[in-house]
Amino acid sequence: MRTVKTILSLRRIIQKAKTKKKTIGFVPTMGALHEGHLSLIRKSKKENDLTVLSIFVNPAQFGPKEDFKNYPRETGKDILLAKKENVDILFCPSVDEIYPRGYLTYIEVEKISGALCGKYRPGHFKGAATVVGKFLNIVDPDVLYLGQKDAQQAAVLKKMVEDINFPVTIKVCPTVREADGLALSSRNSYLTEEERKEAPVLYRSLVEIKKRVAEGECNSKNIISFIREKIEENSSGKVQYIECVQAESFKPVEKLEGKVLIALAVFFGQTRLIDNILVNVK
Ligand code: AMP
Repeated sequence: MRTVKTILSLRRIIQKAKTKKKTIGFVPTMGALHEGHLSLIRKSKKENDLTVLSIFVNPAQFGPKEDFKNYPRETGKDILLAKKENVDILFCPSVDEIYPRGYLTYIEVEKISGALCGKYRPGHFKGAATVVGKFLNIVDPDVLYLGQKDAQQAAVLKKMVEDINFPVTIKVCPTVREADGLALSSRNSYLTEEERKEAPVLYRSLVEIKKRVAEGECNSKNIISFIREKIEENSSGKVQYIECVQAESFKPVEKLEGKVLIALAVFFGQTRLIDNILVNVK
C-alpha cells in the first residue's frame, strides 16, 4: 500500500495507472475505519484494478458547535486495517493541502441539501459535496463507493455528479450493522454503555415499520408517530427528526408511494445517530 499525502504525488500515481488502462475505485472516508468502511473497500477491490481510500476529517462539513475537534482519529489503526484489506493507495492529506490559505470555492447542491439533516446541519452537505468534488477531480476514479447509511449524502453526491458531469459511476452499498441492528458509525464510540444498549431501538423501529408498510400502512403521519413512540418509550433517545421522503428528490411525502426513504436522527446524550430504511410501495 502506498500512503500519499499530497495532491501532486497522488495525481502522478493516478496518471501512470491511467496510461496502463487500470480501472480505479475510490472510497472516501473520515477514518476511524469500521466494517461499514471495509465493506466499501472490499467491493472496490473486487471490481477495480486499483483502490484508492481517502481518510480526511473534513472541517468544511462540521458546524461551529459540532465535533470536528473530537472526531475520532485513529490513523495508526486505520493504516493497519487498510493494509490488511490490500488498499492500493491511501490518501490522507492535511487540511492545508485541501483548503490552502485563501480557499474560496464550494459546491452547493440545492434543495436536497436542505432536507432532513440539512435543516439541522446548515452547510454540512456543502462541505461534503465540496470535498468529494475535489477528490473526484484529483483521483478521477471510474467508480465511487458510498454507504446507504448516509443516504442523504449519497443523494447529494449523485446529483452533483450528474449536474457537473463528473465521469464516474456511483455505487451505494448496504448499511453494515452490529448483530443487534445498530448501524456501524465512527460516532458509536461516543455512546455510554447504557446508550449503546438503547440505540438498537432505532433500527428495530424501522424494521417494524417496514413490516407495517408491507401490510398496507401508507400514511406518513402514522408511520412517524409509531417510530417516535417506539423510540421514546424504549430509550432515552431524543428525536431530532423522523421523516418520510421521496427517495431521489428528498421531498416529504404524505402518502407513501413508489420509492420512499424513512429516515431519522436521534440524540443519545450528546451523540447524534442517523439511520434509514428504503421502502417500495406499489
Ligand atoms: P464516514 O467516514 O462516516 O464519512 O463514511 C465514509 C463512507 O462510509 C460513506 O460513504 C458512508 O456512507 C460509509 N459508511 C459509514 N458507515 C457505514 C455503514 N455502517 N455501512 C455502510 N457504509 C457506511
